[in-house]
Amino acid sequence: MIPALMPTYNRANLAFERGEGARLWTDDGRRFLDFGAGIATSSIGHANPHLTKAIADQAGRVMHVSNLYRIPEAEKLAARHVAASFADSVFFGNSGAEANEGMIKAVRKYHAETGHPERYEILCFEGAFHGRTLGTLAATGNEKYLAGFGPPLEGFQHLPFDNMNALRSAISGKTAGIMIEPVQGEGGVRPCPDRFLQDIRAVCDEYGLLMALDEVQSGMGRTGKLWAYEWAGIEPDVMSAAKGIAGGFPLGAVLAKEKVAQYLKPGTHGSTYGGNPLACAAGNAVLDVVLAPGFLDGVARVSAHLWRGLEGLVTKHPSVVEGVRGRGLLCGLKLTPAVSNGDMQAAAVAEGLLTVAAGMNVLRLAPPLIITEADADEAVELLDRACRRMTPSNAKVAAK
Ligand SMILES: *Cc1c(COP(=O)(O)O)cnc(C)c1O
Repeated sequence: MIPALMPTYNRANLAFERGEGARLWTDDGRRFLDFGAGIATSSIGHANPHLTKAIADQAGRVMHVSNLYRIPEAEKLAARHVAASFADSVFFGNSGAEANEGMIKAVRKYHAETGHPERYEILCFEGAFHGRTLGTLAATGNEKYLAGFGPPLEGFQHLPFDNMNALRSAISGKTAGIMIEPVQGEGGVRPCPDRFLQDIRAVCDEYGLLMALDEVQSGMGRTGKLWAYEWAGIEPDVMSAAKGIAGGFPLGAVLAKEKVAQYLKPGTHGSTYGGNPLACAAGNAVLDVVLAPGFLDGVARVSAHLWRGLEGLVTKHPSVVEGVRGRGLLCGLKLTPAVSNGDMQAAAVAEGLLTVAAGMNVLRLAPPLIITEADADEAVELLDRACRRMTPSNAKVAAK
């Protein structure tokens, strides 16, 4: 018989009842070090007192009123995001996919309103992940996810990653913009070279295209800058955000330059819950932490420390780990073909460490941004033990 909870996920048989910082406890009392953070989302740790209090206080005042009224918490959060980024204006929704839907609509609307409705095609990349709604599935372009859901939404083309020749030859009179993750998360923790982002910026300027960044996973301090595009010294025209921006409370956002945002006039786009007082109270509390002086430098420092430890695993377990990839605290171990990331993830769980599998046989690490160097050392130690379980001569034992 089908479970009451629709079985769209292969869930690990772990149920957590409590968390604190980077640690989670199951209902049967086992303790885990959480280097998955609910897929890069619990950005300031579990049960963060500042975030918890902000949510409780706001819930006790008013949770939801709809966007028919002014929402001071949303106005404040938008103003802070504008001050801290390239953007001039922000739209709030509830998830990453919804943010990307808004971003895709913004890109198409810009061209329609500037006299080029025929420009609606968005160039995307192999290995991308943009979400599971019908529009974002088409932008994702992964055959496995598209299968069985009818014709994909028209207007997306997928190009080889980091290949300017292919990109230039794909541009046509239909092209509206280029959509890319600065670090591909689901696709295998693959960082986009800074030079590729700079070249995309230049080609967008040359052809009048919009540069649309999906920073749902790479943003909100995860790479050691507030937004990953900052590393490349460029600015997009429009960007999506979600995951870490409210620390685990559902919130998504489209950040845009005025030249794009000006066409999303009343009635063009909307969301019932989007940016409600509760979600924005959570978003403001997360920003209090992430924008505090020195916080992002701390993320950069602890990630450099973590990377040194992870690189040690490559030397120590060459039959298991091929390399370390990603940027900052969105990183991963590229495993050898002899070892599957699913088995390695299970071995890490057996050692008390939570991670997330990603494409290209990568074991993804995306801990809360508040981890200490001691937490990083502990994770490396647990991964070291997991690698020992996976070393071919021990693999049979690990499988039991
Ligand atoms: C997770 C993710 C999404 C989708 O976010 P949801 O909140 O699951 O809809 C989109 N883009 C990227 C890069 C992501 O990592």
